Amino acid sequence: MAVPKIRVKLVTWDEVHGWAFRLARLVEESGWRPDVVVAIARGGYVPARLVCDILDVHDLLSVQVLHWGRAAEITAEAHVKYPVPVKLEGKRVLLIDDICDTGDSIIVAKKHLEERAAPAEIRTGVMQWISAVAKIKPDYYVEELRDWVWYQYPWCRVEDTTNFIEKIVGETGRKEWTRSELVEEFKEWYGIDVGEEVFEEAFKKLVERGVLVLKE
Ligand code: ADP
Repeated sequence: MAVPKIRVKLVTWDEVHGWAFRLARLVEESGWRPDVVVAIARGGYVPARLVCDILDVHDLLSVQVLHWGRAAEITAEAHVKYPVPVKLEGKRVLLIDDICDTGDSIIVAKKHLEERAAPAEIRTGVMQWISAVAKIKPDYYVEELRDWVWYQYPWCRVEDTTNFIEKIVGETGRKEWTRSELVEEFKEWYGIDVGEEVFEEAFKKLVERGVLVLKE
């Protein structure tokens, strides 16, 4: 078996739920209570919603920061797509993302909220903090990762798989594959198995886009 080309961890829904509980507990134990949770879209949506559930916070907003293009490749500067149209004066805000990698999304989202929404305080929380590369340390984090790894979260399994396969096709320069060849190659490159339903959806998208030709 070949060594995986990038380090990928396949994340389950149960793991996400467990991390959300731990993140919520960290906030609680710090003696601080948010009035509003702001999810950084799109990765922060699920953890933010779960933290709201556990902490019984009813005000949930989001701010979308664009940054990453293809899976595991930076393609653009982090920027806010739709400006936040509300004032949050006097509110304590908990800004949540799934993972703090470079830290750029959190930095940009926080600055944007400070300027536009002017809350009393903003604290930041994530499930994973890649301390090896991040420019900032979130106020609350569940796991510190000392080595860079791509966390394949369950809410973007099709998107990541599509991008990962596109990378295989691009780097091998080979467009025609049988399903089983491609699944085997994928497992070798990434060291994970995303299951038939996800593979099929990714194949379909790549065939429609003319990137992939399936044999058989
Ligand atoms: P942050 O500001 O949280 O460090 P980045 O700007 O580096 O985030 O990345 C933006 C988004 O891209 C993350 O919120 C996450 O959804 C996704 N992402 C970045 N790095 C990773 C990774 N190593 N594993 C999984 N998803 C990632």
